[in-house]
Amino acid sequence: MNHPKRLLLSNLAWSQEVSTREPEFFSELARGQQPRFLWIGCSDSRVPAERITNAQPGELFVHRNIANLYTSDDGNTSSVIEYAVHALKVEHVIICGHHHCGGVRAALSPPSDALPIVNRRIAGLRELAGRHRDELHAIADFDERVDRFAELNVIEQVRLLRESPIVRRAPRPPQVHGWIFGLRAGLITQLTDMDEARDIAGMHAEAHQSVAA
Ligand SMILES: [Zn+2]
Repeated sequence: MNHPKRLLLSNLAWSQEVSTREPEFFSELARGQQPRFLWIGCSDSRVPAERITNAQPGELFVHRNIANLYTSDDGNTSSVIEYAVHALKVEHVIICGHHHCGGVRAALSPPSDALPIVNRRIAGLRELAGRHRDELHAIADFDERVDRFAELNVIEQVRLLRESPIVRRAPRPPQVHGWIFGLRAGLITQLTDMDEARDIAGMHAEAHQSVAA
């Protein structure tokens, strides 16, 4: 059934099932949130953050946009990050891209006249593709090239976010992680080193303390 009513019926069934299994669940949720993770992912319908990580309501603070991009001049993404890092004080930011990403594919293809807003949005991705031209062109298969560029994009977004004032000036800078979700097996692979994220977060914390002192 493709009618939205199906979603409402599913919600009703879910609510009843959870209430039966865990009577206090929803009253706990209503008390407030204390998520430990900010998830920045792609809007793609095949990459639902909570579903693929088996996270429960209250665990992930989530922002999703086309191709999981962070740009400092994007008030939407930046406000989510600011709130997560400065108000909720999340300990980890996870940027999770995915293979078969339509936004990443679009950045490696000629611009579409029908999608001017998307074109503007992914302009930075096109530039990034230019910076990795040699590596990308060495991959003959276009789908494989798209998947590799999806990974390079995550690594770039991690770099940008780690260097951003929102993260660096946080009272307790979070660790920023880069992950990629593979659709074929449903598995997430780490693209950045967890220890490296910790080192950088520690360095920022020390820098912040010395500035404050
Ligand atoms: Zn995508």
